[in-house]
Amino acid sequence: MTRHDQTSQQARTIDDIAMALADRGLDLDLLAKRMRAVSPESDATSEIAGPPWRNGDVSALNMNLVPTRYGGCPALQSLVAQATLMACLGEADASLALALPGPGLAMPPVVALASTQQQARFFQRFQSGTPRWGAFAITEPDCGSDATAMRTHARKTGRGWVLNGTKCFITNGARADCVITFATINRQMGRYGVRAFLVDCNTPGFTLSRIERMAGLRATQLAVLSYADCEVTDDALLARGNEKPLDDAFSGAQRSWDYFRPLLSAVMVGACRRVRADLVAWLDAGGTPADRHQGVANVEASLLDIDRQIAAAWLLCHCTAWKTDRGIATSMDSSMTKAFASRVAARITRAALDLAGIDGIIACPSLEQAYRDARAFDIMEGTGELQRLMIARAAQRSTSRPWDIAAPPGSYPTTPDSSPDNTNAHQSGQETSHDA
Ligand SMILES: Cc1cc2nc3c(=O)[nH]c(=O)nc-3n(C[C@H](O)[C@H](O)[C@H](O)COP(=O)(O)OP(=O)(O)OC[C@H]3O[C@@H](n4cnc5c(N)ncnc54)[C@H](O)[C@@H]3O)c2cc1C
Repeated sequence: MTRHDQTSQQARTIDDIAMALADRGLDLDLLAKRMRAVSPESDATSEIAGPPWRNGDVSALNMNLVPTRYGGCPALQSLVAQATLMACLGEADASLALALPGPGLAMPPVVALASTQQQARFFQRFQSGTPRWGAFAITEPDCGSDATAMRTHARKTGRGWVLNGTKCFITNGARADCVITFATINRQMGRYGVRAFLVDCNTPGFTLSRIERMAGLRATQLAVLSYADCEVTDDALLARGNEKPLDDAFSGAQRSWDYFRPLLSAVMVGACRRVRADLVAWLDAGGTPADRHQGVANVEASLLDIDRQIAAAWLLCHCTAWKTDRGIATSMDSSMTKAFASRVAARITRAALDLAGIDGIIACPSLEQAYRDARAFDIMEGTGELQRLMIARAAQRSTSRPWDIAAPPGSYPTTPDSSPDNTNAHQSGQETSHDA
């Protein structure tokens, strides 16, 4: 069966996805409603208020992003389906969408780098009726955009590896029970010195140092994690023995960024849809635009402009996800999607505040929250500046353009169901751009 055949069996619409999740006991509509209801409290407390899920939802949430061969939902394996789901959850609350249980950002490096046994062990953790989170730790206090300059060090011992260092801004890091941790065996080797380790959070030497105070996306609880002589076994090193060269660990991180940039962009598309809906509801209820001289035609023009931008950002997410599902290398597309969605989110949330004015913001606090969430989104998974820099570099080097959709030779699978046997080393085309 070709990859295209596989993706044609995937859920395509939000109704397909809701049905597939219902089969696994999760009521998507209800979850979204409850996320929306606890959104203000979650933003105020930086906690997952409620929680918004019911006990029966937890298994399905845990297993989201888990490959089918480890029990994941077959209908949700494509990035198109995941993006559609994340846009729906982002519309309920962007921050909570990113704070839901599941392997999260840890999934792509595990699929790309780990042996079959390591993958089975990692994904088995999520077959549980209690919420489980995975996390991905590469950013450090002194290096974020240039992740290859990391200082967290891995030293080989007779018994395994000893990790020392600090990671920061780790999404769900305070909730996770295992963290894919990137560390260097030798800083002079740059990206080729980087290795990825699966670190259990109850390993001696691993500690949660603090949770950051955030302006936006507060429920994601970005954590600072410390590794002080944190000793892990040989088996914690994600590797496939002779199947795969070890110096590819940084490609595993790149895989995560390629996969998640369109997904996170879809979350922000959802957030923008919500801003638009809340704005219209407020106007319909008699709210007066801040600029009282703005006629109906001007307000409608602003709303149409918002619609146009949301549609463009969503099409870009969809196109990148569609290409990923067909095994086309999408590093540049993912960067373009994130850079564009980030600008759109910043513009729309700002335009909504300008239009609503102080009265509207008081009546509709979700507008102000969305503005802060959009600011945080611009930083995560590589800042807007870095995305634009990478796009410029890649565009100079590349002969193909994002609108070329035929799979070029050397394309690779990135969806959760990518088989370990056919996952090639990733030629990102952005090898000198190292961002988290
Ligand atoms: C909500 C959120 C979630 C996150 N989740 C995770 C996670 O789960 N795991 C993880 O490892 N990290 C995570 N991060 C960290 C994130 O990836 C980094 O914050 C990001 O890569 C930027 O790194 P930095 O904060 O060190 O900023 P720096 O790299 O210090 O950048 C500071 C400023 O300088 C600019 N800059 C840097 N280099 C250049 C350059 N060469 N040219 C032009 N401008 C430049 C940047 O654009 C930025 O404006 C998260 C961050 C946020 C906000």
